[in-house]
Amino acid sequence: MCPRPRSERVVVIGAGHAGVQAADALRAGGHDGPITLVGGEPVLPYQRPPLSKEHLAPGGTPVPLPLRAERFFADRRIDLRTGVTATALDRTSRTVLLDDGAALPYDVLVLATGAANRVPAVPGADLAGIHALRTLGDAQALRAGLSRARSVLVVGAGFVGLEVAAAARAHGPAVTVLEAADRPLARALSREAAGHVAEVHRRAGTDLRLGEAVAAFTGRRGRVTGAVSSAGTEYRADLVLVGTGVAPRTALAAAAGLPVVDGIVVDECLRTPDPAIYAVGDCASHPSVHTGTRIRLESVQNATDQGRHVAAAILGGARPYTGVPWFWSHQGALKLQIAGVRLPGDENVLCGDPATGRFSVCRFRDGRLVVVESLNRPADHMAARRLLAAGRSPEPGRLRDPAFCLKEFAREPAVA
Ligand SMILES: Cc1cc2nc3c(=O)[nH]c(=O)nc-3n(C[C@H](O)[C@H](O)[C@H](O)COP(=O)(O)OP(=O)(O)OC[C@H]3O[C@@H](n4cnc5c(N)ncnc54)[C@H](O)[C@@H]3O)c2cc1C
Repeated sequence: MCPRPRSERVVVIGAGHAGVQAADALRAGGHDGPITLVGGEPVLPYQRPPLSKEHLAPGGTPVPLPLRAERFFADRRIDLRTGVTATALDRTSRTVLLDDGAALPYDVLVLATGAANRVPAVPGADLAGIHALRTLGDAQALRAGLSRARSVLVVGAGFVGLEVAAAARAHGPAVTVLEAADRPLARALSREAAGHVAEVHRRAGTDLRLGEAVAAFTGRRGRVTGAVSSAGTEYRADLVLVGTGVAPRTALAAAAGLPVVDGIVVDECLRTPDPAIYAVGDCASHPSVHTGTRIRLESVQNATDQGRHVAAAILGGARPYTGVPWFWSHQGALKLQIAGVRLPGDENVLCGDPATGRFSVCRFRDGRLVVVESLNRPADHMAARRLLAAGRSPEPGRLRDPAFCLKEFAREPAVA
């Protein structure tokens, strides 16, 4: 059982998915004290996933989708401060210092600082025409660039890189993707699912180069003209998107002496070793009941569920966080959904026929279902989330029956 923290003045640093949800759930849960939400970006908090999807699609809407309407914050007495960055924490006086000169006292502090893009340390990385994608500003610049580009190079076949590659193909230019690993989405997907993803992009006309990292960018008069890969191959491009992953934003926590190991270290109730400070979302590393290890997730589900969870803890209902991780990605016609967290060594069993383009890879650990990767099979995904939350699992052998249906299995009464 985790002890109840004090909850008079709550300050939330970071107005992304996690921070906004924490503030919302705190007020909705009955918290009556002041809530201040500090966001470094100078805009109303918005949804990040559309930035690499609808926002980039030809004819798509370039308007940001707000996380909450503008009046929501005033109506809920949430003091939203946008365009303001927290620069230091004084844990002794329990004060946050802001770059506009303000000092905010807190009784409870929630760190929801998210993550920032990693930039490969190679020559030419600062040339004009090289884009990253994390913020609305990044997305606006990328969208404008895509509408003019004749050849696009994407560095990194992760989720953001592949979503941008699919959107770029839809705009018309030639698209090349360089990926250092031997398959796309290597950290997130089984070999079977990743193979299908690679095929979908190649069929769409993308030149997907596996086992090749970027060694240097080339340019003329300060503008990118292409890149040279680790294999020595030269690629021409007038627009580059670097999608080589993110690093958690932990500088504030680390400078205040909080432990950081690939994320701000929190316990199972999402609290740091300082009982007045919690951390949630992309910036936090928590012990997972699903893997038995410490993990840091980068997903909307994780950010919003942890935001809700931390609000409950602040309100006195602290309990271990057990949310089932899930994720989605849209890459052209491919709708990819993942429930659960993979570990190396999980056993893969196919559900459905990859040749149809609609199948799932079910992963088992010690004979129990732990992950379902669904490609254009949304019903499997929804069933998987229900099964994983209930701790239910089909026998792996049952999936080999072509008539087996995960959705039907999830409807069967649980056997004690
Ligand atoms: C292009 C893109 C597409 C994505 N697509 C998907 C998807 O399809 N599905 C999915 O599940 N996930 C997706 N994600 C991931 C998902 O958006 C993140 O996991 C989620 O945004 C994490 O929320 P967060 O609140 O932890 O962090 P963030 O959303 O990064 O928010 C953190 C905020 O804190 C602010 N901040 C940081 N430090 C300070 C400071 N010192 N002072 C003040 N403010 C500060 C930052 O400016 C930022 O606004 C995508 C991400 C990107 C970038």
